[in-house]
Amino acid sequence: MDITASDGAMLPIVPFLKMPKGQAPYLEGQECGGCGAIFLGERISCASCGVEGKFSAKRLSNRGELYVYSIVYRSFPGIDVPYVSAIVDLEGGGTVKGNLINVELDPEKIQMGMPVEVVYLTAPRKDSDGNEYLMYSFQPRS
Ligand SMILES: [Zn+2]
Repeated sequence: MDITASDGAMLPIVPFLKMPKGQAPYLEGQECGGCGAIFLGERISCASCGVEGKFSAKRLSNRGELYVYSIVYRSFPGIDVPYVSAIVDLEGGGTVKGNLINVELDPEKIQMGMPVEVVYLTAPRKDSDGNEYLMYSFQPRS
């Protein structure tokens, strides 16, 4: 399922989720011009090599591998549990935290290094102004 942001009625849930009009959404990293390290969100200096202010936007892959995860049984009020919180290494660079969906909540069934993909979906709640938000999750790649 591809969601496109053609109608503009939906907002990205995080600034690094980009929704170009009429095109599929994607995650955007900031690539260090000094060493090539990729971060999410605005940076002043590189945590890897220390260079300052030499970042450029880079479109990140929707494919990656599960680096690590945790099954969360307790969270904030109103957040449905359990769910799988995951950190994924994307192909070509970028390490992203998010929820892993469409998996059995069984550690025997979730393998470190398993191929996953980024999926984009509507957040379950609207804000107080009635705006909908586009969020991302990960799911096993077939
Ligand atoms: Zn760097």
